[in-house]
Formats: sequence, structure tokens, C-alpha cells
Amino acid sequence: MFKEFNWGPALFLIIYQVLLLVSLPFYFTFNFPSIWMWAATITLLYLTGLSITAGYHRYFSHRSYKTNPFMETILLFFGSMSVQGSALRWSFEHRLHHAHVDTDEDPYSIKKGFWYAHFLWLMEKPANIDPKIVPDLMKNPRIMFQDRYYGTCAIASNVAVFLLVGWLLNDFWGAFFLASWTRIFLLHHFTWFINSLAHTWGDKPFCQEQSAVNNYVISLLTFGEGYHNYHHVFANDYRNGIRWYHFDPTKWLIWTLSKLGLVHHLKQMDPSVIAKRMVMERKNLLLDRIHQLWYVKSEELADKVNEISERIVAELARFNQLKEHYRKLQREQVEPSTLDNLKSEISRMKKNLKADWKLWVELSRNIMRLKPLPTL
Ligand SMILES: [Zn+2]
Ligand SMILES: [Zn+2]
Repeated sequence: MFKEFNWGPALFLIIYQVLLLVSLPFYFTFNFPSIWMWAATITLLYLTGLSITAGYHRYFSHRSYKTNPFMETILLFFGSMSVQGSALRWSFEHRLHHAHVDTDEDPYSIKKGFWYAHFLWLMEKPANIDPKIVPDLMKNPRIMFQDRYYGTCAIASNVAVFLLVGWLLNDFWGAFFLASWTRIFLLHHFTWFINSLAHTWGDKPFCQEQSAVNNYVISLLTFGEGYHNYHHVFANDYRNGIRWYHFDPTKWLIWTLSKLGLVHHLKQMDPSVIAKRMVMERKNLLLDRIHQLWYVKSEELADKVNEISERIVAELARFNQLKEHYRKLQREQVEPSTLDNLKSEISRMKKNLKADWKLWVELSRNIMRLKPLPTL
């Protein structure tokens, strides 16, 4: 199955998980961890988890915002504690995953099976880091330091936090079993879910062609990385969940840090580009579905789909044009009455768009409800 077995990481992953799962029942038989130990474990789980999602993923791999050396060092510290390799290697593999998703060159391709994408890929000897894929990261001395001394960084950060938690809560067994190993175990699987579950179970509103899916439940377990279909299409957006109610603590953290002045230049996709992509993707899906429905007036239905989708796309373009024009006139400090006229045209356009969007959602729902009948 493996081209070349990666003995070191493979033995580490197998041995620590088996030992932990065997010893945890004994630990719980003789110990009653305090509420504070649980709180420390969950806090550390979030700190290390968010350093992977906001740090390794959205910052180092995708450059979706900018920050300073101090924040980079914090992200690298907790990233080391996550025991997921260096930021350089993680980002190199992740950039390959995006560039070659679902092919042989994808390091954790779901096409090789669920468990391969989940964690068996880590047992395969990794490719050498190609400087052409991560030239920006290789110029950063902090990233290169963490990569060169990764083993020491991972052990030192974990031992330091284990001693600190054990000493503060006067419970070294709890710090060892819960705040250290159980936390690492949970974080490993939560991160691996992004490569396995988030490429298997969910829907694809932004791109049908590749395996990444959107799934709210996966977001709860992955610090907001469950909107993976969106992410594979708009990878540089600092958000994965684009609506306010989407569970994406990583997005909330980055946004809060930007308000505190610790990160800046957050990249965000234009809402009209996102809306256009959703309409075009849904249009293809609906036309495919209509072709399978031999018992309805398919031509009429297809005409309606084409008509409304094209109208929305045209309205989005016009809306953008008007907004651009408005900003230009604002910069030129033209007469307030000209701006007012333009403003009312923009709000009228917005109303039209909302009405057409509603029509589109209804039409789409109705078509998707029609099930193709089995042919006789
Ligand atoms: Zn992916
Ligand atoms: Zn990504």
C-alpha cells in the first residue's frame, strides 16, 4: 500500500494512541480530575487547535492576513505543541493538496480512501520540500528555526506546559493524561477530519467537481474548517464560514486580533463574486437534474433556470459597477445630490437582487424536490 514506510512518525502515532487508549480507563478508575483540569485541557486544545487553523493553515499556508514577528512566534509555539510537524512542512503539503486535490500528487488524496486521507498518509515517506512551493516561508527566519529544531520545539513546548499545568493545579497525572496526551490525541483527529470527513460528508455549493464539502457539524469539531468546499474555491479568504452564523472560531479569532491591531490586511472575497459562483454552480446542478426528469416539461424549466440565473449575474455586475462609480464620485467630492441619486439607484438595485435571489432559491428548491423516476 505504501511506496515507502515512514517508520519514525508511524510508530509514534500507533504507540502513543494505543498506550493512551489502554491507560485512560485505569487513570479514570483511580483519579477524579478537577473541573480546572478539564478547563485547562479544553483551553490548551483550543490554543493549539487555533494555532493550526489560524496559524499553519490560514496564515502560513494561505497568507490570508498579515501579522508581526511576535504573533508569528506565538503561532509557531502553539503549532509546535500540536505535534503536527513544522509550519514549513505542513504548509508545503497543504499547498500541494490545494494545487492537486484528488490526484496522485495530493499528499492526502481522498481518492486513496477515507483512512488514507485521515491519517494513513502520515505513514508514507514524505516528499522533500520543494523551495518553489514555499519560497515566501523559506525567507522567514522564525519558520526556518522551527523547521530545523522541530523535534526540540515540540518536546520543549509540551514539557513546559505539562510542568506549568501540573504545578499550577497540583495534579501532574492530570496534566500528563488529559492536558497533554488526550489533548494531542483529540487535536490530531480533529485536524485529520478536515482531510477525511470534510472531503466526504456534506454538500458542494461552490464546486461540484472536487471532493471538498461544506458541513456544519464538521466545523464544530475543526475550529471552523468544515466549510471546506468554499475554502477550496476561495482559499485566500481569511474566513471559511462566510455567514455570521457559520461556526468559525478561527475567523472570529482573526477578526478580533485585527480589531486589537495584532493582525491586518485580512483578505476577504467580494460578496458578489461569491454569489455569482453560487448561482453558476447551482445552475449547472439544476440543468443536470432537469435532464434526468423525463416526466416534466424540461425545456420550460431549463429556460426558467437560465433566465433567472443570467438575470442575477447581470444584476450583480451592474450593482458592482454602481458601487465602484459611487466610491469614485465620493473620492472626487462631487455634488451631494448626484451622490444621493446614485445611492437610491443602488438601493433599488439591491431590492431587485434580493427579490430575484428569493425567486432563485424557490425555483432551485422546487427542482431539487423532483426526484428522477426509475426508467422502465
Ligand atoms: Zn481539502
Ligand atoms: Zn487550505
